[in-house]
Amino acid sequence: MAETKKFQVVIIGAGGAGLTAAIYTSRAKLSTAIFEKLTPGGQIALTDLVENYPGFPEGILGPDVSQRMEAQAKRYGTEVIYEEVKSIAKQNGGFQITTGSGSYSAAAVILASGASFRMVGVPGERELTGKGVSYCATCDGAFFKEKEIVVVGGGDSAMQEGIFLTRFASKVTVIHRRDSLRASPILKDRAKANEKIEFVWDTVIEKILGEKKVEGVSLRNVKTGETREFRTDGVFIFIGHDPNSALVKEFVEIDESGYVKATDSLQTSVPGVFAAGEIRAGAVKQLVAACGEGCEAALAAQHHIENL
Ligand code: NAP
Repeated sequence: MAETKKFQVVIIGAGGAGLTAAIYTSRAKLSTAIFEKLTPGGQIALTDLVENYPGFPEGILGPDVSQRMEAQAKRYGTEVIYEEVKSIAKQNGGFQITTGSGSYSAAAVILASGASFRMVGVPGERELTGKGVSYCATCDGAFFKEKEIVVVGGGDSAMQEGIFLTRFASKVTVIHRRDSLRASPILKDRAKANEKIEFVWDTVIEKILGEKKVEGVSLRNVKTGETREFRTDGVFIFIGHDPNSALVKEFVEIDESGYVKATDSLQTSVPGVFAAGEIRAGAVKQLVAACGEGCEAALAAQHHIENL
């Protein structure tokens, strides 16, 4: 086995929370590694336009803000390691982190691996993912020029991404399981005013139809029980997220939904391990809040290291 590489701080997950934590710890001259199994930016990298991050009155593109945060962390010496963390354990008063190809040690760890999109769990969904079923409008929207698509969900993500998808699609039908939207008033109003968007209320998808690609969906009205088939070229699913906490679910305390429990100072049940951003139970799921928590966790980790 290769030699263990030593860092003072290891951050797991390079989304808004993790990258902000890295900017703070590396700028405080703590040797810092941040592990990322996909691309930096987390959910923000998959978002078209971020309109509510202060300082950008015209909005800023999700991938842009992600790349800028990564560059800022690297500027102060953060090492960005594109590997999936496989295990984390206590060792010599600190922690040992292993990936598929290496072993690393840290005096403090910040968990910032966020959350991933939720699946509906119906027949056809898994089989047709990438063949008309998508969870990312920014990634796949352009494949649906002049096509008719459906969006599943009634929250902010469904509205924001549904509006974005009208740039490409000729028609976007939002399928929501209730008769009122969970989304915030501004996005709700914008979606309702968009001529390309139609709503199907009180309805769930029971099956996604198609052999080689999506051809339609089976719908069921939850109030009347009526079922019908609805022709569509694409199914975009935005029904919330689940925490990426499988790695640590036996290492730190988690709540019944799998989110990591942490104190007001973002300390988990294991001293020296902190949680920031969407992985944390009770987190406000907004970029600016994730960044704020990244900062707080970095300062707490710094304090922890100073007192070792
Ligand atoms: P969300 O707020 O949890 O909304 C999920 C939506 O999907 C709800 O309408 C829910 O229906 C529906 N849903 C959940 N499970 C379902 C299932 N199995 N089948 C069918 N429908 C289902 O999730 P989100 O929209 O991804 O937003 C997550 C967080 O990010 C929120 O706090 C949101 O405010 C934030 N966000 C903010 C912005 C912004 O500020 N611009 C943009 C995106 C996201 P019910 O309503 O019936 O529960």
